[in-house]
Amino acid sequence: MMAVKLTGIQQMTVTEDEKPDISGDDDVLIRLKSIGVCGSDVHYYLDGRIGSQVVHYPFVVGHECSGFVEKCGSGVDRVVPGDLTVIDPSVHCGQCDQCLAGRPHTCRNNRFLGCPGQIAGCLTEYIVMPSSACFPVTGRLDAEEAALVEPLSIGIYAVRLAGICGSDTKTAILGVGPIGLSILMKLLADGILSAGIIEPLNYRLEKALQIGAAWGLNPAGCEVPEEVLKMEPCLLDVVFEASGDQEAVDTALKIVKPGGKLVLVGIPPLAKYVFDMDLMRRKEITVINVRRQNHCVEEAIEMVASGKIDVKRMVTHRFPLDKTPAAFDMVARYRDNVIKAMICL
Ligand SMILES: [Zn+2]
Ligand SMILES: [Zn+2]
Repeated sequence: MMAVKLTGIQQMTVTEDEKPDISGDDDVLIRLKSIGVCGSDVHYYLDGRIGSQVVHYPFVVGHECSGFVEKCGSGVDRVVPGDLTVIDPSVHCGQCDQCLAGRPHTCRNNRFLGCPGQIAGCLTEYIVMPSSACFPVTGRLDAEEAALVEPLSIGIYAVRLAGICGSDTKTAILGVGPIGLSILMKLLADGILSAGIIEPLNYRLEKALQIGAAWGLNPAGCEVPEEVLKMEPCLLDVVFEASGDQEAVDTALKIVKPGGKLVLVGIPPLAKYVFDMDLMRRKEITVINVRRQNHCVEEAIEMVASGKIDVKRMVTHRFPLDKTPAAFDMVARYRDNVIKAMICL
């Protein structure tokens, strides 16, 4: 089968690998149909690492995917061969304190699809996953929507953690890549129509405004805190940081109101931020960290299946599997107004 591997910094090769097979009672063999190129995959491509997670070459990345079930172990009852399935890339042990506390996403023994040293990723034709990772959506979603459930579930989780009460809550999102757009779409689906966008790429700003953002500011062209103050003299209740950028964090602290919340979703490439503690302390800002998602896959499926969220609006480009290197190059360089690139098998 075809597999696409990282072989060095900014190096990627299309190779032939042996097709995997199920070995345990709980295994599911999946023929992949749609794969999303994620910002984190591109971090691994560009830097060979994210924080303490270091790639040992060659390695297959990719974790946003859907496919058709081809074969199941004897103990599998969640899916049957032929099902289209959403794949939750996070595999947990079910036994540690975190799992028992309902936090499988911070499982002590968590293994994640396409994460170096854990599970080889999905930029390939077939993968084997435990049945708990499979969420059948036959007849409800198409393959591309099913692959987009993963990033959408992170946006949904970020909004859930923010604990927003009241549709008049004032919010903003810094950075509208796929995760920022997922947050926006979830807020809008929940009737929170006040969400503003701060984004340095005009084409992304325009996309967010088309989808329904209340306002958009490009930090390259204005003083964001001043402009926000003009629109919202009391400043904002909840600010989502979805870019991983230090400057965005600095801006976020300035536009959140006293007693407000800063929700950190973006991944800082160098693993560290500097916070203005004077501002944080005086305003008594609550900082919420978002680790992937927890129990939001079902809601993401429901939101897409019911038509409340048209998750495909974030997709700008589609590539066949053997053109994955071109897709990564495009996303890494923000070429051709790319937002979400999908690999179609
Ligand atoms: Zn992702
Ligand atoms: Zn666990």
